Formats: sequence, structure tokens, C-alpha cells
Amino acid sequence: MDSRKPKPTLRVDPPSDSPVENAAARSSTARRALRLDQYLEGIVSGDRAILGRAITLVESHRGDHQALAQELIETLLPRTGKSVRVGITGVPGSGKSSFIETLGCDLVQRGRRVAVLAVDPSSGVSGGSILGDKTRMTRLAVSESAFIRPSPSAGRLGGVAQKTRETMLLCEAAGYDVILVETVGVGQSETVVAGMTDVFLALVLAGAGDELQGIKRGLLELVDVIAVNKADGENRERAEIAAREISTAMHIVRGGEGEVPVLTCSALENRGVHELWATLDDLHEQRHRSGELERRRREQSLQWMHALLEEGLLLMFREDASAAAEMNRLEEEVRSGRRSPYAAVRKLLDAFAAHRNGD
Ligand code: GDP
Repeated sequence: MDSRKPKPTLRVDPPSDSPVENAAARSSTARRALRLDQYLEGIVSGDRAILGRAITLVESHRGDHQALAQELIETLLPRTGKSVRVGITGVPGSGKSSFIETLGCDLVQRGRRVAVLAVDPSSGVSGGSILGDKTRMTRLAVSESAFIRPSPSAGRLGGVAQKTRETMLLCEAAGYDVILVETVGVGQSETVVAGMTDVFLALVLAGAGDELQGIKRGLLELVDVIAVNKADGENRERAEIAAREISTAMHIVRGGEGEVPVLTCSALENRGVHELWATLDDLHEQRHRSGELERRRREQSLQWMHALLEEGLLLMFREDASAAAEMNRLEEEVRSGRRSPYAAVRKLLDAFAAHRNGD
């Protein structure tokens, strides 16, 4: 018996006018999954309401939802991969949402379809969300050609990020040809986002003194393009100077490992934003032509596989009653300092191996 069969009373919600998913709509749809063919049809025909519900399905922790989500993504995979995937990072206040809105509207005007996704590591830690709670990107949000998905309000980084990858694939299958994945530079979030995108942009602000100090060490290796934002009014000249300093510093730091273009822009005045896009798009095209894009994406697929394996194994432990009990017990021992994490994992893996061998 296929446990994924849906209940017969399911109905499709009327399409929402707004491309912005809201939490209430998400939680009300979380319980009612559609049938695979309903998701497929909705997504392929570009129905944003169904796309939103498919993402909710992907984010669900229920086993039957997960199974259906996997089937959905697998079926849609041949329709994915054709977008430009851009990671965007910057500290809160650096102007990411304003920039994405200006860029998004510009792209939409030029006939592109833009999806904006967020990886928000703050949500799992504080229960709140740096990115999700604000009313953001209101101009872009009303566009027919845009889809904005705020970050889930719970979950640890790995989980959220993994779902972001799947969300990205769903958006591609729905015909979005530019995917902007936004993150704040907290913890591992930048590495995670760089691990699922084609090009990576850092938005920085002109500050006093050592400009590179504002850019975290880890980011130096990940970033492809840097933009000094808010280059307007009195700040414009400072931004130009900062850009030159950062450019020189990046040249020294990266040595021969490829130049990092450093530009200035103002989301407020819509200055430099399109030029910045052209730089990102060129880089994408260049990587595509050289085969680097393909290599990068294959490597990312491998990382995705490993992440799925980890998630699957964890789920196996959690869903098996005796393994879950053992896991809980060992977690408690690790938490109280009575057992080392190494010893706990060894014990769990030994038990798993014994179980697999039918002992
Ligand atoms: P985020 O937290 O990185 O998403 O930043 P926001 O987009 O919310 O912007 C933070 C603040 O900077 C807001 O008050 C914006 O109005 C302002 N801001 C954003 N972009 C620009 C810009 O290009 N120029 C100026 N002067 N202010 C900007």
C-alpha cells in the first residue's frame, strides 16, 4: 500500500495574487498535501500558489511528505539547472533587500523571471528571523514574474539550507531563470550558499580604515564579485575609494587565483546595479563556456548527495524506536559530559552495524 496516496478530499487553493509566501498560509497548507500530479502540473504551469505549497511540502518533517517531496523533485530534475544561481551575502543593514528589489525589478523589466530565497541561520537559534519578519521587497513582491520565499522560521542551518537547494530546484522547474539566494554572514551560512550557487556576491559598506576587515576571512575565498553598496550622496566618493582599496587588497590576498571585480552601486538611486548584474552574468557565461559551471554543479550535487545521506541516516535513527531511544540516551550522556561525542557516535554506529547484520 502506498502511504503517499493523498486523501481524496484534497482541493487546490485559489492562486494567491502575491508571490510572497506568508507563514499563516504555509502552516495551513502544511497539513494538506496535494497529489504528485497536482504539484507537477501546478509547478510546470507556473502556478505560484502551488509552487509555494510544494516548498512547504519539501520543508515538512513528516515522513510521507518527505517521500512525496523527493518523488516530486526527482521528477522535476530534468527541468532544472537552466537558471543563473546567484548567492548574495552582506551583514544586516548592508542593503541586501533594497539591492535585490532594485535588481529584481530591473531583471523583470528585461523579461527575466526572478526567485528570491533566503538562508537565514538566525532563525534556528533565536526562534526569530533576521530576514523573514520584515516587510521587504514590496515592489518586487507585486510583480507577476517574481517569487519571494522568506526563510522558514525554524530549523537548524543545515536543514534550512538543504531545503533551500530543493526550493531552488522547484523554482527552476517553475520557470524562474534567475535565482537569488540571500544570506547574512553568520556562521557557515555563506559556505552553504556558495555551495549551491554559480556565482557569489558580497555587498559591503564603505567604512573607515582597513576595508578588508569588514570582510570575513572565510568569505575572501568564496566571493566572486564585491559591491560597495550605498554609493550615493555624500557616501559616493567614500564608496569609490573603498572599492579601490578592497580591489587592491583582494589582489594581494588572492594572488593568482583570479581577479575579483569590485564595483560600487546604489540600490536607492538604481546606479551601478545593472552593471553589477552584467558582471555576474558575464562571469556565469564565462564559467559556462569553460566547463567550470558544469564541474562546480557536479561537485555541488555530490555535496547534496552527502547531505541527503546524512539526513537519511539521522532519520533512520530517529524513526527506529530502539535506535531513537539509544540516541536520546547517548545525547543526554554527551550533554552532561559523561560521554564524549566520539564515543557516543561509535556506540551508535556499532549498534547500527549489528542491526544491519541481523544480530
Ligand atoms: P539588509 O538588512 O541588508 O537587507 O538592508 P536593507 O535593504 O534593509 O537596508 C538597510 C537600510 O539601508 C535601509 O534603511 C535602506 O533604506 C538603506 N539603504 C539600502 N540601500 C541603500 C542605498 O543604496 N543607498 C542608501 N543611501 N541607503 C540604502
